[in-house]
Amino acid sequence: MNAKLMDFEAALEQFDPVLGFEVHVELNTRTKMFSSSPNPANEEFADAPPNTLISPLDLGLPGSMPVPNSAAVKSAISLGLALGCEIGTSCRFARKNYYYPDLPKNYQISQYDEPIAFEGEVEIELPDGRTVDIAIERAHIEEDAGKLTHVGGATGRIQGAEYSLVDYNRAGVPLVEIVTKPIVGAGADAPEIAKQYVAVIRDIVRGLGISEARMERGNLRCDANVSLMPKGSTEFGTRTETKNVNSLRSVERAVKYEIQRQARILADGGSITQETRHWHEDTGRTSAGRVKSDADDYRYFPEPDMLPLTPSRELVEELRAGLPEQPVARRRRLRGEWGFTALEFQDIANAGLIDAVEATVSAGAAPAAARKWWNGELSRIANERGVPADTLASPEHVAQLQQLVDAGTINDRLARQALEGVIADEGSPQEVVDARGLAVVSDEGALVAAVDEALAAQPDVLAKIQDGKVQAAGAVIGAVMKAMRGQADAARVREIIMERAGR
Ligand code: ADP
Ligand code: MG
Repeated sequence: MNAKLMDFEAALEQFDPVLGFEVHVELNTRTKMFSSSPNPANEEFADAPPNTLISPLDLGLPGSMPVPNSAAVKSAISLGLALGCEIGTSCRFARKNYYYPDLPKNYQISQYDEPIAFEGEVEIELPDGRTVDIAIERAHIEEDAGKLTHVGGATGRIQGAEYSLVDYNRAGVPLVEIVTKPIVGAGADAPEIAKQYVAVIRDIVRGLGISEARMERGNLRCDANVSLMPKGSTEFGTRTETKNVNSLRSVERAVKYEIQRQARILADGGSITQETRHWHEDTGRTSAGRVKSDADDYRYFPEPDMLPLTPSRELVEELRAGLPEQPVARRRRLRGEWGFTALEFQDIANAGLIDAVEATVSAGAAPAAARKWWNGELSRIANERGVPADTLASPEHVAQLQQLVDAGTINDRLARQALEGVIADEGSPQEVVDARGLAVVSDEGALVAAVDEALAAQPDVLAKIQDGKVQAAGAVIGAVMKAMRGQADAARVREIIMERAGR
């Protein structure tokens, strides 16, 4: 059953949206949060077969004891600092009790009333250059649950499935959950704010190097809370929480959808149920999940098996000194240095390709050329294959490819073929050009012979060129390029044609 939607603009004439985001970041430490099992959120172990990265603790076996991972704690503190937060002086872990087959202990170790980081603020930037400060309520450490795969149903959900598989590799993966304060006053910018907020969190954790930050792999997961209040009101409406929206575009769409759905219900005199909702990428809709009360009875209590974390102020200051530039400041700096328009830069930023372009420029490419490769051919191939562009080729190879073009060794068409070879792991651009024989023909004699042959085959065109209709040369260039299997420099071919035609 499809919900009725109100037109987005009409919804905003009647209601003010309130937003809130919970973003889970999987840390990429080598081991898990409280056990010494390898961490599948670390690139090196990402492809491990199910249930191979597990220990007695991850399985909740009796007698196993948790030990906090100091690398993960440092990552969490750095993240807290990058979010402008205060860092707690004594932070107890807490048990959040619930039963589910992906949670063998029957409780999740989290932080409750004593989070590692709290009271922060991050700056985000909208496409038109306006900035918005997002207030952060808290960022706390917790562990991930295992992963269930429901098999046999149409939707991949538990409803209608024939059986379910469980993989405990993810059980105990270190997480930081970042929770915003309610965001009011977003108005029509609400969807874009949602998207840019998640983009900034992604860029912060990437800059810190503490997470692989691949949304499509679930390294970064966003739950989007949305409610509406009648225009002019200050009392928040009932919110829904759309779970695990796994791309920037989906975050934007899910928020827009919820605003339109809730507005229709409220305008028709209905009321919103406080519930979790699931985002469906294919239909662009959300559907109801479980009803959620404010007092979810998780029976939180202090974790008795671990001492509180008491990060020293020296450690906090040391980590603060190591913080990278804030994403929005970095964007502004790079946009100026590279001379990109706001739109050009936005495309790179949204695609998560700032690092790739920066590294390509460092490797010697002109910014415009670096952008052209990453935003053009590489993004196109990445879309086709459903993988991130920056996993296809290294910035060094992209820079080398462009150097071969600049040197006239290959033309654009050959460069695309060379890139194909690079992506297929055939070696560096130079090696691919050598192995595939892609270099343009620079043998003047061969070019002149090909031009003469093409002119002889098209005497009418030759006559036109001699008559001054130089644009007719296109047909001859085409014939020469074909004869040379594309491996000629078109500009040089044109020059030779003019010479031979006596122009
Ligand atoms: P829960 O555990 O129920 O998900 P959290 O406190 O972890 O609650 O997160 C709730 C999120 O929703 C926070 O980002 C909070 O700022 C936001 N929020 C709270 N009330 C509202 C509301 N009425 N409308 C939209 N967002 C809200
Ligand atoms: Mg929550």
